[in-house]
Amino acid sequence: MVNRYSLPVCTADGVRTGELFAVNKIICIGRNYAEHAREMGHDPEREPPFFFFKPQSALAQNGVDFIYPDFSQQVEHELELVVALGKAGAHISADAASNYIFGFGVGLDMTCRDLQKEAKKNGRPWELAKGFDGSAPCTAIQRGTLNDLDQYGDLVLTRNGKEVQRGNWRDMVWPIPELIAQVSRYIKLEAGDLIFTGTPAGVGPVAVGDTLEAQLEGFSQQLRLNIVK
Ligand code: ZN
Repeated sequence: MVNRYSLPVCTADGVRTGELFAVNKIICIGRNYAEHAREMGHDPEREPPFFFFKPQSALAQNGVDFIYPDFSQQVEHELELVVALGKAGAHISADAASNYIFGFGVGLDMTCRDLQKEAKKNGRPWELAKGFDGSAPCTAIQRGTLNDLDQYGDLVLTRNGKEVQRGNWRDMVWPIPELIAQVSRYIKLEAGDLIFTGTPAGVGPVAVGDTLEAQLEGFSQQLRLNIVK
């Protein structure tokens, strides 16, 4: 059975376990890399990261084409490390956060930058710019702990074979345990939640006909996304 709101699960060797990770909430962190905050015109020292949501219907498994939305002229890629949660908790301390992690994936926070700029200008929420169908493509979830992450290198995104985005998850302004602590102060985290942990610098446009390939160096899963009309 293919559940639209689930992702396959694999081992560190990339072997599918046959389990499905049923996706619950999709939480996205804003401005979590200093260079990206600067490229968007913000001061990373002054403005702490914040978060927003995408609906489950934004999720797209690896291999599903991305349909360029007809309501935007400026869709951009944001390459992100995705944390999958395996256990419910509220007011989780940063020290305890690792106990709540099920595994990791590589995802793209696809963004209609034109709609986002309009929303920012008018003080409106970002859902239309960030939460549309297919705006959260993600690889299979590789089971693992925070310690396992240590062996992986940069997040790298290529567009039609050319590198367009590169950053290291170690450069997050708020590291993963802090993100889990911060979010869970306000909103209960549950098994099945995904946290898109923010994008490094180098966001940019996509066009119909493009192929994007996203990877975390050394990680078993890679995301490949064809942009179609
Ligand atoms: Zn993002």
